[in-house]
Amino acid sequence: QDTTALLELRGLEVFYGAIQALKGVDVTVREGEIVTLLGANGAGKTTTLRTVSGLLRPRVGEVVFEGERIDGIPAHHVVGLGIGHSPEGRRVFPTMTVLENLQMGAYRFKDVPKAELERVYELFPRLHERRTQMAGTLSGGEQQMLAIGRALMGRPRLLLLDEPSMGLAPLIVAQIFAIIQEINAQGTTVLLVEQNAAQALALSDRAYVLETGSVMMSGPASDLLADPRVREAYLGEG
Ligand code: ATP
Repeated sequence: QDTTALLELRGLEVFYGAIQALKGVDVTVREGEIVTLLGANGAGKTTTLRTVSGLLRPRVGEVVFEGERIDGIPAHHVVGLGIGHSPEGRRVFPTMTVLENLQMGAYRFKDVPKAELERVYELFPRLHERRTQMAGTLSGGEQQMLAIGRALMGRPRLLLLDEPSMGLAPLIVAQIFAIIQEINAQGTTVLLVEQNAAQALALSDRAYVLETGSVMMSGPASDLLADPRVREAYLGEG
């Protein structure tokens, strides 16, 4: 047991019906870190995040957050424990405004916290400019900013980000990564899923490589960035 861990995944096995998506996954995220999960399509990255946020239940294993088991707690209560999730594909509410989407992220509070809203607008001035616009009419990059902003509105200690760079132009990807670093520097721990391995490793403390539901490699991000197997499989080299 790691007493400095904010999140510990112990031996997670997760199934979709008869399909086993996770085959005993162990991951540790310490307070203040950015940790990245790498892996090919179908490796189990999204499944791992969905298990942390209570959208899926492990058949075997434990999700431990701040020293307490949280597997089995429904997703809407997990938010209240301090875990925010920006899902794959962003999933903003398209016919609600930007502000209404952000308010939805704060539903665990009786009143929408002003400090959180101000923080989100400072991180994403574009969202402030577009606060009355329907979310469905935002650009892909703006929708990604909104998905992250909405997750921050619940004042998370741990932020789960599922492929925030997906489908975005390189300039926007660089902006999003810079903002992830800023969010982390302000004190939020981050567990990131990314296909964009080079850029994700560059801003991460540590990383895990998943292959078909198992952790194949893990370590400091700089070690993985230098590892020939990682370079060949995930950085398009070799
Ligand atoms: P991607 O980057 O493509 O999302 P991933 O690493 O996030 O990949 P997961 O989405 O976690 O992978 O999927 C892990 C495995 O579980 C895959 O084999 C996938 O086909 C399977 N799977 C995911 N969701 C479902 C589902 N709803 N029903 C059945 N199988 C599923």
